[in-house]
Amino acid sequence: MTIKTVGVIGAGTMGNGIAQVFASSGFKVIMQDISDEGLKHGMTSIAGSLDRLIKSEKITEADKVSTLERITETAELSSMKGADLVVEAASENFEIKTQVFAELDKICKPEAILASNTSSISLTKIAATTNRADKVIGMHFMNPVPLMKLIEVIRALQTSDETCAVVEGLAEKLGKTALMANDSPGFVANRILVPMINEAIFTLHEGVATVEAIDEIMKLGMNHPIGPLALADLIGLDVLLSITRVLQNETGDPKFRPCPLLIKMVDAGYLGRKAGRGFYEY
Ligand code: NAD
Repeated sequence: MTIKTVGVIGAGTMGNGIAQVFASSGFKVIMQDISDEGLKHGMTSIAGSLDRLIKSEKITEADKVSTLERITETAELSSMKGADLVVEAASENFEIKTQVFAELDKICKPEAILASNTSSISLTKIAATTNRADKVIGMHFMNPVPLMKLIEVIRALQTSDETCAVVEGLAEKLGKTALMANDSPGFVANRILVPMINEAIFTLHEGVATVEAIDEIMKLGMNHPIGPLALADLIGLDVLLSITRVLQNETGDPKFRPCPLLIKMVDAGYLGRKAGRGFYEY
């Protein structure tokens, strides 16, 4: 099937980046969020990101104008009725996601593909809440979306070969690389990454080293482009805690227990960059 119009649910850190890359690649985009503030922030982030790309001479002013023209913002989920593909990037919460998918299933045309950008929640469970389970798939974009090449494509037990093929083709149109993973807690990326970040938080919690030293050790010693605590701030500590909880609950393996300091910081509202404060101040 040909994808022309893409719906994006959630205008947060990931949603606005996803909207931007689809619009930059010529797709019509409808970006929806339940929060007006979230929508406003999403559009400001896209404009800021496009400005940075102009500054680094990757795009022109005219590209920015045409990209923004292709994006419509809305608070109404019913606006998704014209979409050929919807990418859900709402908060990492099972109840929110299954409710959104159940509604999308009623609103969207029968042939539309419903994708989730979830970091860890079972696509098989999400697919089972719809009457089009073969057209449900994970499109796990990486943060920051305009810069990162990978889309980890998650195949639910019910996902059809055709749906996988359409999404792989789309990734190419976005200039990204799709790599397939089967549905499993945390898939590949977060099953490996999140325990490493959680362990970095434990080393801080136990006073092994300072925030700066932990990050510099991993950057200089392992050639990581960003330290694990700075990465935690970029991801959002609430998102990170949600992923850790999914790994812990779905596998039952105590090795995935979240560090108490991570829980405390989320309780305090120190969520990282988006809150102006996490392991660093912004
Ligand atoms: P975020 O907190 O920045 O944004 C979430 C947005 O969803 C908010 O604007 C909120 O208002 C909106 N929202 C909440 N409930 C909604 C609903 N019912 N309908 C519409 N909008 C709703 O979160 P984020 O970091 O952008 O994460 C979004 C998804 O992407 C999560 O599933 C997360 O696991 C995943 N993800 C995050 C990252 C990351 O680095 N942050 C990376 C890859 C994937």
